[in-house]
Amino acid sequence: MNNIDEKLQPILAKVVQRNAGEPEFHQAVHEVMESLGRVIAKNPDYLEQALIERICEPERQIIFRIPWVDDQGKAQINRGFRVQFNSALGPYKGGLRFHPSVNIGIIKFLGFEQIFKNALTGLPIGGGKGGSDFDPKGKSDGEIMRFCQSLMTELFRHLGEQTDVPAGDIGVGRREIGYLFGQYKRLSNRYEAGVITGKAIAYGGSRARTEATGFGNTYFTKAMLETRKSSFDGKRVVVSGAGNVAIHSIEKVQSFGGKVIACSDSSGYVVDETGIDLPLLQEIKIIRQERISEYARLKGAGAHFVPIGKGSIWDLPCQVAMPSATQNELSGRDARKLVQNGVEAVGEGANMPCTPEAVRVLRKANILFGPGKAANAGGVATSALEMQQNASRDRWSFEQTEERLAQIMQNIHDHCAETADEFGAPGDYVLGANIAGFVRVAEAMRMLGVI
Ligand code: NDP
Repeated sequence: MNNIDEKLQPILAKVVQRNAGEPEFHQAVHEVMESLGRVIAKNPDYLEQALIERICEPERQIIFRIPWVDDQGKAQINRGFRVQFNSALGPYKGGLRFHPSVNIGIIKFLGFEQIFKNALTGLPIGGGKGGSDFDPKGKSDGEIMRFCQSLMTELFRHLGEQTDVPAGDIGVGRREIGYLFGQYKRLSNRYEAGVITGKAIAYGGSRARTEATGFGNTYFTKAMLETRKSSFDGKRVVVSGAGNVAIHSIEKVQSFGGKVIACSDSSGYVVDETGIDLPLLQEIKIIRQERISEYARLKGAGAHFVPIGKGSIWDLPCQVAMPSATQNELSGRDARKLVQNGVEAVGEGANMPCTPEAVRVLRKANILFGPGKAANAGGVATSALEMQQNASRDRWSFEQTEERLAQIMQNIHDHCAETADEFGAPGDYVLGANIAGFVRVAEAMRMLGVI
């Protein structure tokens, strides 16, 4: 608790005690609290109104059983979660994650981050998150559909365009969103398109939503580089992951002239010194859904595969790093290696991919560091644009939507940078994002009374 203002320490201790055994949630709260000392010094009223304690306590947490039948006719059980964290700014908004590692602590960490991220977009959305410990890997299409339908059979009663609006996350893409929306529509007998985002264009999805998180992180990182008169042009870039966020980061970085030399999945990473061949990567990961080693096998000369445990993707010399797989994937050791190798900027595409030690190393070395709650906010921002299009029965072109996204990312960047300046820490995007997000939510909560 060394870096935390002494007035905030009892609040953090209470969060840890009340949410025992949830280390990722403690980590997320700790990281925000590190930034809030300067805020309460300026505005002690936040403490008197217990605004920080209130923000750390979810408004509602739902845990439920998800029974489903596999292709062999055997009954299976998973656990479902939805944490409706904060609705001061609008309906709860945040994705659903399907991954065996999901538990209530992971969902609370993601939901907590989401509150501030959503506030930073400047759009009227509260924070929430959900998911299940279901593992979609190796499941048939029929199994995925039955699982999604069973999950929604419980979840639908907690959702609504004005109440709670989920979207995708790890393991939840277009196909899952379709099955979830279909079951919601059937149970509610309402065509409420704005109840879920990340939909296919055919039934109310927004153009550029699929690309938005990766594109958004690239816009944010570009804006950071520009503050030091730098750019992506000609830079060596490493992007971890090979899912939605990673693939669209690679696409945008390449369009800005950067050379992405490596990406990964949970089985290892590939290096391609000639620059990642995006159509080949998409073919392998999206169409054929194979392991990343296939990329090296098919690409041949210039590319090779390194299996998990045989080295770190962050050991590769690069000027820009974009961790876009999962939480705590970039350690203190990795950060030191990046600094040694001359990294200029790190933009977090995933949620909390850098460990607290890694963040400390990067900030101390004065590396441009875009924290996920700001840098990856493009996805949820475009989800809010999808809700806007659904509400007005309108459809925007790809270009129009991407233009809005680019503007939102620039605004988030500038707002974080200005807040960091105002609070005496120029260039510190962590502090800027935490304070700017917190103040927006806290002010709304204050006006709504003690609820
Ligand atoms: P996907 O499921 O599309 O892709 C995730 C990628 O990360 C896959 O390549 C996966 O490999 C890899 N991965 C997942 N878990 C691990 C692990 N434990 N170790 C190593 N690699 C892993 O998810 P997204 O791209 O949508 O999400 C990635 C990150 O971005 C998450 O942190 C998510 O919360 C965050 N995010 C996503 C947004 C979105 O719009 N999709 C919005 C904002 C943040 P494998 O296939 O082998 O599991």
